[in-house]
Amino acid sequence: MPKAEETILEVDLKALKHNYKYLKSRIPSETKFLAVVKAFAYGSDACEIALYLEELNVDYFAVAYTSEGVALRQAGITTPILVLHPQTVSFETLIAHKLEPNLYSKKILEEFINLATKLEFKNYPIHVKFNTGLNRLGFSKDDIDYLSKTIKSNSVLKLTSIFSHLAASEDLNEKDFTLKQIDSFKTIAKQFSQTIGFKPMMHICNTSGILNYPEAHFDMVRSGIGLYGYGNSEKENKNLTPISSLKTVISQIHNIQPGESVGYNRAFISKIPMRTATLPIGHADGIGRPYGNGKGYVIINGKKAPIVGNVCMDMIMVNVTEIACKAGDEAIIFDAQSSAEMLAETAKTISYELLTAVSQRVKRVFLK
Ligand SMILES: *Cc1c(COP(=O)(O)O)cnc(C)c1O
Repeated sequence: MPKAEETILEVDLKALKHNYKYLKSRIPSETKFLAVVKAFAYGSDACEIALYLEELNVDYFAVAYTSEGVALRQAGITTPILVLHPQTVSFETLIAHKLEPNLYSKKILEEFINLATKLEFKNYPIHVKFNTGLNRLGFSKDDIDYLSKTIKSNSVLKLTSIFSHLAASEDLNEKDFTLKQIDSFKTIAKQFSQTIGFKPMMHICNTSGILNYPEAHFDMVRSGIGLYGYGNSEKENKNLTPISSLKTVISQIHNIQPGESVGYNRAFISKIPMRTATLPIGHADGIGRPYGNGKGYVIINGKKAPIVGNVCMDMIMVNVTEIACKAGDEAIIFDAQSSAEMLAETAKTISYELLTAVSQRVKRVFLK
C-alpha cells in the first residue's frame, strides 16, 4: 500500500467483495440483497461502491434522498434504487430518474398518486413502509384497509414491497422487543396481502438483523454497515473487513516546553517537555471536536498518539513524545486494524457517525 502524502480515505474494494460474499453466505440464496449506499456509501463513495456491487449482481440499492439516487443514475447504475426518505418537492426528479419511493404516510402517498396520475403513469414501482416500533417513519397496521383500497384503485402504482425497520437489532438485550417487531411485521404482511389480493416482497432486516435474526430474512435484506466492514459485535467484526482507511501525514513537529500551551483557547498546557505532531485533518474533514483533548488518537509508526488540545477546523496536534517520527511520516486515523468503531467509542459515538462524517474534502483512493 502506498504511503499517504496528504489526507486520504483509502477504500478497499476487495474488502467490500469479501463483506458482500460473507453477508450473502448468511442469507438463503433466493433472498434478495439490497445494498444501502446512502450518505456516500457511509462516507466512502456511493458511485464507486454501487458500480462494483452492480458488477457483483446485487439486487437493489437504497439511498436516503432523491439527490443520492440521481447521482447513482448519472454514474450509470441501472439496478433498482429505493429512496428511503423522499420529499414531495423532489418527486419529479425522482420519477425522471426511475427511482422508487418509499411512501410512508397518507400525505406523501396521495401527493405521489396525484403526480403519477398527472404524468399518466402505469405501474410505477413504489414501496410502503410500516412502523413496527421505531416510531420514525411508516404507516400503522390500522392503515391497511386504506392502503389496500388506495393502491388497488390506482393503476398508476405498482406496489413492489412492504417493509419495516428494526430499532435495536444489534442489541441482544432487546431481543424480546425485536421479536415483537418481527412478529407484528409478519401479521401486517399477512393481513395486507389478504386485503390487497397479492403478495408484495417483504423485508425488515438491516445488517444486525441479517446476522442476529435469520428467521426474519423474508424476501430481501438491507445491508449498509456490514458491507463497509462493521458487524456491530466483536464476533461479527471478525468475519468482516473494514473497507475504509483514513490516513494522513505529519506536517510539522513541535517541541513544547513546560508551561506552553497547544492549540486554540490554550485548552492544553504542558507540565513537562513534550513533542507534538501537527496533522492536516480537522473537524471540517470529519474529526469532530469531541475527539479532542486526549480522547481520540491516531496511529503513528504503530503507536497511539492522542490528540492534544482542541480539534481545529483543518488540523489536529497529537502527542508524539514517546514515538520516533518526523514530518512526512504517515498517521492512521482508522483502518482495518485500528477501527473506526474503536475510535468512535472514544467520543461516545458509533462507527456509523465517524464513517459518514469524513467530508467530501478528503480525497478518496480506491484499491481494486
Ligand atoms: C440505514 C438503513 C439501513 C441499513 O442499516 P445498517 O445497520 O447500516 O445495515 C437499512 N434500512 C433502513 C430503513 C435504513 O435507514
